[in-house]
Amino acid sequence: MSTGNRPSVLIIGAGFGGIGMAIELRRNGFHDLTILERAADLGGVWRENTYPGAACDVPSPLYSFSFEPKPDWPQRYSGRDAIHAYLRGVAQRNGVLDTIRFGAEVTAAEFDDASGRWTVRTTDGTARTVDVLISAVGQLSRPALPDLPGLDTFAGPAFHSATWDHRVELSGKRVACIGTGASAIQYIPEIQPKVAQLTLFQRTPAWVIPKFDTDYSPIQHTLFARLPGALLVERFGWWAIADFVSLGLVEFPAIARLVAKIASRHLRKQVDDPALLAKLTPDYPIGCKRALFSNDYYPALTRPNVAVETTAITEVRPEGVRTADGTMHEVDVIIYGTGFKGTEFLWPMDIYGRAGHKLSDAWSEGAHAYYGIAVPDFPNLFLVYGPNTNLSAGSIIYMIESQTRYIRQAVELLAQRRGHCLEVRADKEEQFNTALQQRLARTPWNFCTSWYRNAAGRITNNWPGSQTSYRRHLRKLDPADYTLT
Ligand code: NAP
Repeated sequence: MSTGNRPSVLIIGAGFGGIGMAIELRRNGFHDLTILERAADLGGVWRENTYPGAACDVPSPLYSFSFEPKPDWPQRYSGRDAIHAYLRGVAQRNGVLDTIRFGAEVTAAEFDDASGRWTVRTTDGTARTVDVLISAVGQLSRPALPDLPGLDTFAGPAFHSATWDHRVELSGKRVACIGTGASAIQYIPEIQPKVAQLTLFQRTPAWVIPKFDTDYSPIQHTLFARLPGALLVERFGWWAIADFVSLGLVEFPAIARLVAKIASRHLRKQVDDPALLAKLTPDYPIGCKRALFSNDYYPALTRPNVAVETTAITEVRPEGVRTADGTMHEVDVIIYGTGFKGTEFLWPMDIYGRAGHKLSDAWSEGAHAYYGIAVPDFPNLFLVYGPNTNLSAGSIIYMIESQTRYIRQAVELLAQRRGHCLEVRADKEEQFNTALQQRLARTPWNFCTSWYRNAAGRITNNWPGSQTSYRRHLRKLDPADYTLT
């Protein structure tokens, strides 16, 4: 129910996006808020991913809300537990914990043309009716397993990196690790010392950049607490580096070449064996897939109990993994670091907009939205971390803040014009999308398969610019981009 002039708002997801959205609305006087969260805890990817070594490769002073700086991050690149605890603390301090309904998984949402309101349904059969619906379900919440014959026949334990089975003792075991993405390069150095044999099945070698990590000392914690400007300086520094690097995507390829040189030197410094060096050398432009950050990944691969296998996997058998050369790799455990169904966005929720338009039909050729936030035919629906808002350099929390401030302006407009619905104009969204596609066509993402692109090759996930250029566009909502009906 709406309170007075203020629309009621329902947010789906209690990760950084959903919590950030709720705080932005609360701070601006919107208190009729509900967050529906399918799990029993908040945190999104930081709740789900518990694999050994899980951490963020974006420096914590930048990977945090601008309004909640944390002077006592344990490390520059903090681990998953610290980040999860940070988000919980932020939610608590900003009074949004009570707005979360846990164990409430949304199955469908329908817009009613007559009342101009959304009805949101959850798996327990409950239906809630609200004025404004905001999805903050993220891009990486649905793990993807590879489409390999015999996957279910493996006799031993097998699990995905995002659903790590901590009951499985890896010590002394022969372990197959499939995948070499951002998750795998964090857990491989952690498990390598304890396993008997680690076979890493690599389809594509990653570009790996050194990590300038540090444990913050008690003196630094005191300095950051007493002199908030010092923490801001560090935040500003990482923000500037990210913006500089993102210029390498389209405008200045020389920047990308410089980063590639740093990564190549890092590889040569850490790996001597020519055969291994050849296997680990990428043959595609840097940035095409997500570049990774690690100081201990390559050293782990040089250890005697590790083999890097580059022959394609053809099937999984009860005793292990078979490769295209006919070799049977017998293993005790399989770990799938094979990523997420990133291009499916709000799937599997059924979202019906004005006149019964179905979101999955509107997105049949790939998800698209005005600055990743608003979709024609779906009034009063807004997306946080929606299509084309992922970054290859920068902090997603910075992007989320740009979005939540913009969406808050939309909700304010609705509060001023009670009884109206706000819908992005189809011509504006199309114009935006055409320009976006033209720019995307010039990015290196076109040369690789990755979770940035859907099966048809359309880049649905990434923003082809800097975090700052995105913020500049979203600073002020222009009512002329919308129809108020
Ligand atoms: P990912 O980057 O999508 O990597 C999946 C890996 O699995 C790739 O190496 C892929 O190979 C491989 N793979 C898939 N199917 C395969 C098959 N049939 N045979 C062999 N290999 C196969 O997934 P992720 O590592 O979970 O990371 C996903 C995203 O999560 C990242 O890009 C990042 O945005 C985010 N993340 C961030 C952090 C952080 O520190 N900020 C940490 C972890 C994750 P190909 O490359 O050949 O496709």
